[in-house]
Amino acid sequence: MSGITVWAESEPPAAPLLAFPVVCDTSSDCFIQHYFDYAPGPEALDHTCGILTYNGHKGIDIRVSSPKWKGAGFPVISAARGEIEIIKDGIPDRALNQDEIKSARGLAPKPSNSVVINHGNGWRTHYGHLRQGSVIVKPGQEVARGSLLGLVGLSGSTSFPHLHFHLSYKGQNIDPFTGMKGNEGCEVAATGRSYWSADANAKLGYRNGGVFRTGFSDHFPSFDELEISDIDIKIYKPGTTEIYFWVNLWGIRKGDQEELQIYKPDGTVYKRSSTAVTSSVVGLRSFHHASSLPFPPGTYQINYKLRRQVKNKRSEVIINVDSTMEILPQKEIFTSPEN
Ligand SMILES: [Zn+2]
Repeated sequence: MSGITVWAESEPPAAPLLAFPVVCDTSSDCFIQHYFDYAPGPEALDHTCGILTYNGHKGIDIRVSSPKWKGAGFPVISAARGEIEIIKDGIPDRALNQDEIKSARGLAPKPSNSVVINHGNGWRTHYGHLRQGSVIVKPGQEVARGSLLGLVGLSGSTSFPHLHFHLSYKGQNIDPFTGMKGNEGCEVAATGRSYWSADANAKLGYRNGGVFRTGFSDHFPSFDELEISDIDIKIYKPGTTEIYFWVNLWGIRKGDQEELQIYKPDGTVYKRSSTAVTSSVVGLRSFHHASSLPFPPGTYQINYKLRRQVKNKRSEVIINVDSTMEILPQKEIFTSPEN
């Protein structure tokens, strides 16, 4: 006997096998930023005992990693056959800033553009933060697995474009990775069973962190700017003094070390800096102010590294990004000799 009781009552009827609900390439366009929280107290641990969740999160957040979400967009599709039960649309797409996120903590989340599908036998799937004006289904409509519902967006209580997805059984949220409720403790989660289809499982290998976007800017970009546009200046005017290199990362841990090196056009080091990450964060926007002095013209190589202490106390480079930017030369002004 296993000794682990996932359900207090008898087992629920088998859940529908779920398709991955966003049409995106999980190797480049999207990744899961938050899983179910399995930690009983105020801590947050995902089903692998990793940090990719937050306290009380009972769903999965599929982040799309580029401003492409504003253009053609990333389709949100029905994870299984069912009947549309609830829809909401008309809420604008806007990234909440850190202050708004803090002040919203503990309050009921703001509504977002969303769809709920009833799959019968008590099972439902929920799709949140959809793009304004994108919901194309109506209550009562029958949908097949893979039917288009809308597009990934930035509506409601969120600071990044993503689909919040959850599966529920008679109102109780169920982790599709384990079939559990998320209060069993993360050690137990390994004994669970996946509700994803074989296709979805093939896409959903657990990735504990990485870098998904980098760029240069001439100012400190706001949250909204970064999520809505591609801020990446590669060529700067002569005499430029303000350059920011920014990095979007996920799965960053306290004690990780960020290193930035800027190489001059002749290959020598222009600037080297190192910063310790002071708290573990699931999603990090990291900014590096490159200079307050004019850069001599030419092409600069930038190298960004994230190091992590491993078990034998050696540090390992876990992220390594190379990039370049260019400072244009001053225009020379020729005057023709007067006759
Ligand atoms: Zn979520």
